[in-house]
Amino acid sequence: MAATDTPLHTQEEITARVKALEALLIEKGVMTTAAVDRLAEIYENEVGPQLGAKVVARAWTDPEFKARLLADATAACRELGISGLQGEDMIVVEDTETVHNAIVCTLCSCYPWPVLGLPPNWYKAPAYRARIVREPRKVLAEDFGYTIPDTVEIRVWDSSSELRYWVLPTRPEGTEGLGEEELAALVTRDSMIGVGPAAAPAS
Ligand code: FE
Repeated sequence: MAATDTPLHTQEEITARVKALEALLIEKGVMTTAAVDRLAEIYENEVGPQLGAKVVARAWTDPEFKARLLADATAACRELGISGLQGEDMIVVEDTETVHNAIVCTLCSCYPWPVLGLPPNWYKAPAYRARIVREPRKVLAEDFGYTIPDTVEIRVWDSSSELRYWVLPTRPEGTEGLGEEELAALVTRDSMIGVGPAAAPAS
């Protein structure tokens, strides 16, 4: 993943910009320091892929919930108390034996925050955004070490500020006896982006 992991700017540059923007918004009365701190705390500690993993585990174990999730992801997530900014219109695409899905935002970095948290740096990098669309099989294999068999079609979904896609990965083999919580522990962030599989159960 080395090539695509390179940040767009140095951490110092990003931090300086964010601080300047924050100061301006506070000065203009658009935000308060407390609100900024609270937002940062939420996305650092509370919202992340563990929430998407809960949704996936429920879909793996409850076919009716899965149907609702595929019909209206935003509403189905709300059933589990999961909602929020950048998740107003989410669409879940299902991996099957014949179709593998991956997500991208070719324009910028749109991402379903309520279920995955903030996007990783490589997701925002121009290299990933351009190449995953043109040569998804190659990018998955070379950048992520994830080989998709030639018999499986790869579909790449381009998120936007209106619609944010994420992936319902296939349930790993050998997990028949596992409960929802154990299953959720196998659901990785990358599997919900479509650049990796859900983890195999410990044998
Ligand atoms: Fe975007």
